[in-house]
Amino acid sequence: MNYCSNCGSNALKFSIPEGDHLPRFICSKCHSIHYQNPRMIVGCIIENEKGEIMLCKRGIEPRLGFWNLPCGFLENNETVEDGAIREVFEETGAKVQLGKLHSIYNLVKAQQVYLIFQAKMQDDHYQTTPESTAIEFFPLNEIPWDQIAFSSNSHAIEHLIQKRKGLAEGLSIGSYQNQN
Ligand SMILES: [Zn+2]
Repeated sequence: MNYCSNCGSNALKFSIPEGDHLPRFICSKCHSIHYQNPRMIVGCIIENEKGEIMLCKRGIEPRLGFWNLPCGFLENNETVEDGAIREVFEETGAKVQLGKLHSIYNLVKAQQVYLIFQAKMQDDHYQTTPESTAIEFFPLNEIPWDQIAFSSNSHAIEHLIQKRKGLAEGLSIGSYQNQN
């Protein structure tokens, strides 16, 4: 952070406010304290009648050309459920019915938390978009593991495989300490 988003001053210092325990950007002019917190990414693991899951080929950086579950940043004034449905629609044109929360994944160093819901298509429609240059349903034994964009996605897919085998149930919570 270089400028105060409240007054525009560049007189920022990074130090621990009184009574706090972590350093924050503090404006020396207007005394605003700028708290920075993790961002939330919401999305879906969408299963069709054959038990295959939808993956989208990323048309944007980072990880351009890698496969991803449809997901994206939660907006302000939006529930996580609505955000997950919206992200799927924006990336694939598909309308989904949400099921249960499937996985939570902490990307600790990247300051992100993923929430992935189980979902089913409301109808057969989907289409490529600038964000998703290809969309395919993959059987769980044909997942292109070395081309999955993010560890958060691998975690969600692996949990579904474990559930199908009867080795896991409910919600899986995972975490990764490095960037992706
Ligand atoms: Zn300021």
